[in-house]
Amino acid sequence: MRRPDGEPVSGDFAVEERPLPSVGEGQLLVRNLYMSVDPSMRGRLERTEKHYTHNFTPGSPLDGRALGVVEESRCSSVPAGAFVRHQLGWRERAVLDVADTDGADRIDPRLAPLPTWLGLLGQTGFTAYVGLTGIAALHPGDTVFVSAAAGAVGTAAGQFARLLGADRVIGTAGGPDKCALLVKEFGYDAAADYRAEPVREALARLAPEGIDVYFDNVGGEQLAAALHALRTGGRVALCGMMSQFGGERRPVDINQLIQAVLKRLTLRGFIVRDHEDLRPEFEQRVADWLTDGRITARETVVDGLENAAGALLSLLGGGNVGKMLVRLGDS
Ligand code: NDP
Repeated sequence: MRRPDGEPVSGDFAVEERPLPSVGEGQLLVRNLYMSVDPSMRGRLERTEKHYTHNFTPGSPLDGRALGVVEESRCSSVPAGAFVRHQLGWRERAVLDVADTDGADRIDPRLAPLPTWLGLLGQTGFTAYVGLTGIAALHPGDTVFVSAAAGAVGTAAGQFARLLGADRVIGTAGGPDKCALLVKEFGYDAAADYRAEPVREALARLAPEGIDVYFDNVGGEQLAAALHALRTGGRVALCGMMSQFGGERRPVDINQLIQAVLKRLTLRGFIVRDHEDLRPEFEQRVADWLTDGRITARETVVDGLENAAGALLSLLGGGNVGKMLVRLGDS
C-alpha cells in the first residue's frame, strides 16, 4: 500500500508477490483462509502515529488478524493441519514464530465455524464484552444504547447486553434494512436510522426515561445525543469514533460535556488488548451461548485477496453487517 492522499482509494493498494522465508525451528507455515477487515486499518494508513498501535509501512503487507491452516510445522505443539489465528494479516501465506505472544493462537473448529473465530469469538466480540462488562459495568435492568449497532462489535454488543441482563437495548445503524435486522436477529428492542433522524430525537422517543449505558462506536453527534439521554450515574464505554473518519465529519460542541458534570457520568475509553484478563471468561461464556443457540454470529464475506482493499473501503461506508472478512479458502 501507499499512504492515501485524503480518503483512501483502491489504487492505494496493490497485490504483490514476495518470496517466503524458509520455515525455521519453532516456526509454522500457515496458509490463510480468512483475513479480518477492521476500521482501525483506516487510521493506520495515515502518516500520523496513533497512540495504541503502529501505522502500516508503505510497500509492506497490511498486518492484522487472520486465520489459516498450518501447512508445515517445525514446532511439536502445533501439528500440520491445525488452525491458527495470527497477526500477520493480509497475505496468502505466513511464516509464524510460535513463541511470539502474537505468534499463533490455535483454535478449535469443532467449537465454532472458522469465521466466528475472527468475529464473535474473536477480537470484535471480545471488544463488545470488555466494553459492556469491564468498562461500562453493565447491571441487570440497565437500558443500553449501542451505536454502529449492525457492525461487528455492535451485533455482538446488543446480544451480549441482553444476555447480561439489560432490560432494554437500543441501537443505531445506517438505513432501514440494518435497523430491521437489529431487532429481528441481534437482540435489540428498538433501532433508529441515524441518517434519517437526529439521534437525540430518536433516543427521546425510544428511551423516554433515559439510558444507563452508552457503548460508543462512533463519537460525534451520537455521543452528544447519548450525553443528553443518559440518566444520573450513567456510564459510557468509549470504544471508537467511526464518525470522525471520512469527509462527513461535523464538529460537536464540547461544552455538551457539562451533561457529564450535572449527571455524574463516567466516560471511559479503552483499548481491548489491555483487558486480556477477561479473555478466559469471555471465551467460556460466548462459546456456551453459541452452543446453546442463544447468540447469532454474522459475517459479511468478500472473496479474494485482490478484493481486500475494496472490502475495507466498503466497511468504512457501511457495506457490512456483522464482521467484515476476506475469504481466501475454506479448508
Ligand atoms: P463495524 O463492523 O461496526 O464497521 C463500521 C461501521 O461503522 C460501518 O458498518 C458503518 O455502519 C458505521 N459507520 C461508518 N461511518 C459512520 C458514521 N459517520 N457515523 C456512524 N456510523 C458510521 O466495525 P467494528 O465493529 O469492527 O468496529 C466498531 C468500532 O469499534 C470502531 O469505531 C472501531 O474502531 C472500534 N474498535 C475499538 C476497539 C478498542 O479496543 N477500543 C477494538 C475494535 C474495534 P452504518 O451502515 O450503520 O453506518
